[in-house]
Amino acid sequence: MADCAFCMIVQRQLPAQIVYEDEQVLAFKDINPQTPVHVLVVPKQHYDHIGADVPEALLGHLFRVAARVAGEQGVAESGYRLITNCGEDGRQTVPHLHIHLLGGALLPISMGPAD
Ligand code: 5GP
Ligand code: ZN
Repeated sequence: MADCAFCMIVQRQLPAQIVYEDEQVLAFKDINPQTPVHVLVVPKQHYDHIGADVPEALLGHLFRVAARVAGEQGVAESGYRLITNCGEDGRQTVPHLHIHLLGGALLPISMGPAD
């Protein structure tokens, strides 16, 4: 999709630190990491968010890849968090489906409303 940063990364029109790639999925380091390990796992095909009609097999594959990358990034034992933000209240800023892999630090418990 034109003007989509993550489509541009997939197409190598924007640089990124890619840590995993297969036919369907790309994983790359977040440009503004919130934790020592912060990787984004995205489908190569553009879907706006998790609520778009994403094939189940692709959803499963995205999570499998996220867990695999967690291992490769050295946080499988210590633990990590997978998040996908959706829409305005979910604070999604890039409208291309992505799973955040966050790890390498003890994460906050709260996932409730912002103050
Ligand atoms: P969201 O808020 O949509 O769930 O998360 C978008 C994430 O993408 C943010 O953590 C942001 O730092 C990251 N991001 C935005 N633009 C780029 C980019 O051009 N390259 C990379 N590597 N990450 C990006
Ligand atoms: Zn896109």
